[in-house]
Amino acid sequence: MRLEDDIKTVKGIGDKTAQNFNKLGIYNIKDLVFYYPRSYKTYSEPVPVSSVTEGDRVAVFCRVVTYVESHKGRRYNITSLTAADDTGSIRMVWFNMPFLRNLFKKGDSYIFYGIIKIKGNMRVMEMPEYFTQIKYQKALSTMQPIYPLKSGVTNNSITRAIEAVKDVVLSIPEYLPEKEINERGLMPRCDALLQIHFPKDEATLREALKRIAFDEFLEFLIRIRSLRESTVTESNYHVITDESISKKDGFIAGLPFELTEGQKAAIADIESDMKSEHVMNRLIQGDVGSGKTVVAVMALLMNSVSGHQGALMVPTEVLAMQHFEDVCRMLRPYKLKVSLLTGSMTAKEKRQVYSDLKSGACDIVIGTHAIIQDSTEFKDLGLVVTDEQHRFGVKQREKLSEKGRIPHILIMSATPIPRTLAIILYADMDISVIKDMPAERKRIKNCVVDTSYRPSAYKFIQQQIAEGHQAYVICPMVEENEITEAENVINYSDDLQRELGPSIKVAYLHGKMKEAEKKDILHSFVNKEIDVLVSTTVIEVGINNPNATIMMIENAERFGLAQLHQLRGRVGRGQAQSYCIFINVKKSKDSMERLKVLEDSNDGFYIASEDLRLRGPGDFFGIRQSGDMDFKIADIYNYSDMLRLAQDISLVYGREFDGKIVL
Ligand code: ADP
Ligand code: MG
Repeated sequence: MRLEDDIKTVKGIGDKTAQNFNKLGIYNIKDLVFYYPRSYKTYSEPVPVSSVTEGDRVAVFCRVVTYVESHKGRRYNITSLTAADDTGSIRMVWFNMPFLRNLFKKGDSYIFYGIIKIKGNMRVMEMPEYFTQIKYQKALSTMQPIYPLKSGVTNNSITRAIEAVKDVVLSIPEYLPEKEINERGLMPRCDALLQIHFPKDEATLREALKRIAFDEFLEFLIRIRSLRESTVTESNYHVITDESISKKDGFIAGLPFELTEGQKAAIADIESDMKSEHVMNRLIQGDVGSGKTVVAVMALLMNSVSGHQGALMVPTEVLAMQHFEDVCRMLRPYKLKVSLLTGSMTAKEKRQVYSDLKSGACDIVIGTHAIIQDSTEFKDLGLVVTDEQHRFGVKQREKLSEKGRIPHILIMSATPIPRTLAIILYADMDISVIKDMPAERKRIKNCVVDTSYRPSAYKFIQQQIAEGHQAYVICPMVEENEITEAENVINYSDDLQRELGPSIKVAYLHGKMKEAEKKDILHSFVNKEIDVLVSTTVIEVGINNPNATIMMIENAERFGLAQLHQLRGRVGRGQAQSYCIFINVKKSKDSMERLKVLEDSNDGFYIASEDLRLRGPGDFFGIRQSGDMDFKIADIYNYSDMLRLAQDISLVYGREFDGKIVL
């Protein structure tokens, strides 16, 4: 067996399983080996029932003390029982698992593992895992990989498949000289690849992750080096005209607000790049809410008035739609044709856009990265802007350069990075930083509270809505149980609707909804037809509704601080005072301390570094970045030392490892 072999050649994988694996993007053995866990499960010793508090994730050793009930609920079949130890009892509840009815018998003892909720004055575990005592002893000593899944593939089937290809992993060649491995204290490559799937213990896992992060950084640095060599000398085939510059000045004069100094400087940089001899390659770095969109729009305007086409790429369809509406509105006076291109459009609609791009009828196209596929032809693409998109799409840029005349590239990023690291990561780009926030912006008022504050929070939401504002509520998280994520959001919004009363319109949004549905909901929200939007974190990136003044985040303790900062960035975008309410369900001191950081600071980089400092021992996968970087493991906060090391090695060895790093 080799890495390139089809997944079907793996023992135990038939046609049907292979098809399901394909849906996860796993086609061959290599894809499988590089399909990393998203977390690991470790179990802990059972605790007495009386000691648990809401939000705890615990194991309890209990006897089944009631008969098992099974009945059809509103949306699903509910199976439940009460279990107890000497100190107290817990209600165990499962959704859509009616077969459990025949498994549990009154009087039997099990270990139940799950998260504690308090409903009324009852302790509840929803969807707990259950073990016999012997099985639990075994589970206690292992770290089980948890893979991201889609329907049809189980965690177990992935684990087994990887077991079956162990030998192939062990045959992956080491590209680094032994001397470097030893001197730099790096784990050998194939060991790291095995350990990430089947970690021996936490310490070994950390070493494995470091090595993989190193490889990702190094590969990346080698690529941007060669990109840099080819782009810095690239001519500018899309010089902007004087007319376009005066149109842009007119645009600025017509804005309802004064640009910040940072915005002005960024625009001046862009203008001078696009007039110069060489093609533009620029990163605009500015925290959430600093006003990057208008800057992008001005670049698109200058480019199109000069007679070239522009593309704006964003990570999600929802964001694409929102940008499309904003851009259309802002550019209405200029008679430019702006088109939307997303995966959920009909084939006919897409064909029209493709043909308009080819003929030049379309001036500006906005969409997900599908815009720059092989099949898309432009008459004359002069500018590509990516917003909150993967790290200026190294691959996409390589693709563009194959298509002929390289367009200007403009990257908008909210990822806060210290200067020393930015210089390494963006070695191939010029950087403009927008440091200041729009002047009349009021600082968001934050509060971290426990669940007893909920009724007051709801009252406050009612008041804000009465004043004409809107609210976001981020739903409690459901873990390792993706089936009920959607149901959870729906239930929560039902409850909230009841709580807030019929005059307030509550709607919900979650990741499992169809793109078209999501778009409709967001559209209604921005148009104020919806007052409260209950959502999972799908709204995290880029959504702009300046009229929303409240962000209430349930289970705030379960999010990374950087992510909370992004979420909070959805409010405080207009002139009114905004509020962020963090509901800290688990009242531990640690989570309070972590959340305090957000209360005290609005500085994205400070928050990210505090997040790292305060992180618990079980957090292996670091801070979720806002999508900037293309890495699976590497992350600049967690592995900044590996980034520096990769930089060192790449300087010493130059191109030597080019093409040798299997990733
Ligand atoms: P981000 O940098 O997070 O992408 P946006 O570009 O979405 O931020 O801007 C957030 C909000 O601020 C928008 O409603 C935008 O119209 C507004 N805005 C942008 N620049 C300014 C400014 N200089 N003064 C006041 N409001 C501004
Ligand atoms: Mg934005």
